[in-house]
This record gives sequence, structure tokens and C-alpha cells, in this order.
Amino acid sequence: MKAIVFHQHGAPDVLKYEDVPDPVVRHNEVLVRVKACALNHLDLWVRRGLPNVPIPLPHIPGSDISGEIAQVGSDVSTVRVGQKVVLAPLVSCGKCAACVAGIDNRCRQATNLGYMIDGGCAELVRAPEVNCLPYPENLSFEEAASIPLVFQTAWHMLVARAELQPGEDVLILGAGSGVGSAAIQIAKFFGARVIATASSEEKLQKGKELGADHLINHKTQKIRDEVRRITNKRGVDVVFEHVGTATWDDSLASLATGGRLVTCGATTGYDAKLDLRFLFSRQLSLLGSYMGVKSELHTVMKLVASGRLKPVVDRIFPLAEAAVAHAYLESSSQFGKVVLKV
Ligand SMILES: [Zn+2]
Repeated sequence: MKAIVFHQHGAPDVLKYEDVPDPVVRHNEVLVRVKACALNHLDLWVRRGLPNVPIPLPHIPGSDISGEIAQVGSDVSTVRVGQKVVLAPLVSCGKCAACVAGIDNRCRQATNLGYMIDGGCAELVRAPEVNCLPYPENLSFEEAASIPLVFQTAWHMLVARAELQPGEDVLILGAGSGVGSAAIQIAKFFGARVIATASSEEKLQKGKELGADHLINHKTQKIRDEVRRITNKRGVDVVFEHVGTATWDDSLASLATGGRLVTCGATTGYDAKLDLRFLFSRQLSLLGSYMGVKSELHTVMKLVASGRLKPVVDRIFPLAEAAVAHAYLESSSQFGKVVLKV
């Protein structure tokens, strides 16, 4: 098969379009003929290389996959050859205490398709049967591939971790990112008031179309000042963080008493400062979140199929142009998902 492969870590030009052997399915796995694979910031980190994460090389990246089932292993019983499918990105052991409790994102063996194992930037990918999600028939393959990772992450952050309640105020950073555009929709679905930030008027306008009630241009406005103004000096109940160092101080300063900050990433850096007096006197909660659990994705897929949540596709590139697509995602000029068509 054809695949995007890198043999060493580095800039986008390490991504090569090559012939590689077809994957061989195990008894509990399916082989998927990939139709689309959406990119995530994770793909950029994996390509550049992460300290203390020995990614097996050569490596095929790509976590968000849609396609058709090409072959099934001998124990597979819930999907059939020819069926359209979207894959849940998280691959866990399925046997440990966390997995049997349904909190597979706490499995110590868990990884993502395209992270410690080969992913979907290829004509074929193998995945466990349990990762097969029902295909929302109202979506193209490119739209379907844009759903799993960002919607699962945003859902787990807002619903499971921050326990967002109707009527609460939520600050969503980076409306133009995949996870931000998903978070706006989920927060509105739960009846929250959404304040969204972005780096341009064009992105803010698109955030508004997704349902954001108030907009902050973080290039020209100070986030904490605007949040104070919009909330009558109260602050927000929930801050949705994934930016890291660049926004951390503003995120903390934007919280109301009893507020919760939930974070899933640090695209601008890992270092953060915290005034402990502020943490206890304001009774704040700092919540880390990683991916989500498979049952949440089944819920998300139902809401997508009924049109309540929508994928946001920015640009589609051919698989062979993965390096160009990576460079484009790195430039942060997108609104929503960058997708490779296979
Ligand atoms: Zn497990």
C-alpha cells in the first residue's frame, strides 16, 4: 500500500509518500480502507519527536480515520466487510481495571492510532473491532474523520471533568482550533454562555456562527479584562484550556470563585505559574484531561448523526501532500480541521 512514513523526527519534509507492506489483522481487529484522515496537533508532536516517548520508526502517523472495512479478523462479529466506519483513536488493552470500568483513557497501555502504533495516513490501517464507531450517514468521509479526537477530547473536558452546567459561563480559548470549535458547540448544547477567543476577526466570526455568545480577539484585546467586562467582574465558571504558557495567567485570572480550569494541552509551552493563595482563597479546581472514553464517542456520534454537533472542515489535501498539510496546520491559519483525502 501507499503510506505517509517518517524514518526520523524533524520538520514536515521528513514525511515521505512511500510503498509499505499491507498491515496484517489480528483475530480481534479490522482492516480499514482509509478514505480520509484528519490531522491533529498530536501529529505535529509525534513527527517532531517527544522527550521520553520512543516512537517506533519508521512510523505512519494519523489518528482520526474514516473509511470502509476491507477485512475482518476471525473473532470480529459486530462489523462486516464493505461497511463504512469511523475509528475511535484510542487503543487500550481492554483487560485492565480501568478498561473494564469503561475509563479506557486511564489504561496504562493506552495509545492512539498514529502515536505509538501505525496510524491512518495510509491506504490501509488495522484497528481493534471495539474502535469501530457507527458511521453518521449525513457526513462525507472528510467530515466524519474530523470528528473523533477533537470532539471526544472536548466532550470529556467539559462534561466529564468540568461537569459543565446549564447557564454557566465558559471561556473557550482558540475557537479556530479543532478542539475549540468542538467545545463551542458542546458548551452551547449544554446550555452554557460561551465566550470564545481567536486571533483574527475572521475566525471570531466563524466562532460566532458556531454559537459563541461573546468574542475576544486575543491579538488586540486582553482576555482577563474582556472576561471581567462581559461577566460584570464575576469571571467564568469554566475555562477551556489547551494553549498553555501563552494564556495560562489570563485563564486563571478569568475564573470566578469556585471556577474550574480544565486543560488538555500546551501548544505554546509547558511552564505555568500559580499563586497558591489564589487557588485556595478562590476555591478553584485545576483539572487535567486526556482524550476521552469510547462511550462518550458513541454519544457524540449520535448527536452528529442528528445534526446537533457538526464537524468543521477547514481544508482538504491529498494524502501525498501530507507534508504541506502539516506545514499549514503548524502555521495556525486554519479554522477547524485539516484533512487528508486518501
Ligand atoms: Zn487497559
